[in-house]
Amino acid sequence: MVKAVFLDRDGVINLDKAYVHRWDDFEFLPGAVEAMRQLHLAGYILIVVTNQAGIARGYYTERQFEILTEAMIEHLAAAGVVITAVYHCPHHPAGTVPLLSVACDCRKPAPGMLLAAAREHGVDLEQSILVGDKASDLEAARAAGVGTAYLVQSDPACLASAEGLSDGAFKGLADCARHILTRSRAINFSQTQEVLR
Ligand SMILES: [Mg+2]
Ligand SMILES: [Zn+2]
Repeated sequence: MVKAVFLDRDGVINLDKAYVHRWDDFEFLPGAVEAMRQLHLAGYILIVVTNQAGIARGYYTERQFEILTEAMIEHLAAAGVVITAVYHCPHHPAGTVPLLSVACDCRKPAPGMLLAAAREHGVDLEQSILVGDKASDLEAARAAGVGTAYLVQSDPACLASAEGLSDGAFKGLADCARHILTRSRAINFSQTQEVLR
């Protein structure tokens, strides 16, 4: 079993410009790439879980999403970041593409993507962490049994809507990763002390 950091995409990894679907519009948030590199080096596998209702709404296609995802993965790989998997939900109940305009079990706050990722990659959900920028991300984590869920957000209204759902709030992934790494070093240290005693 492995430990994962589940990352929402828009608003966590890249600037949320609403329905980003072209590499030219994809803008990494400050410190996000280095934060992911540090989490990877600390032994977490990185799994992206992203709602892509723009596909159901007909704003862009599955293929366009795949092309953007490949560009993101390649850019990150060049920076020393290994993304183990990217899960996306292309659905929305009020979409315009008939086959995708359904109430599914993968659109967050539903836990479908997290449960599939855990099954397919042998993830220990209790030992894992989710980082999201919306209440729905944190609700999905809770529903899936992810041990820890953090919010990265500085908008007061968003912070208020996620009240009581997160184990901590940070202004960005860089600060959040720093917290995760400090915490895991503290846990490892106390386990070492336990063994030595
Ligand atoms: Mg988001
Ligand atoms: Zn879905």
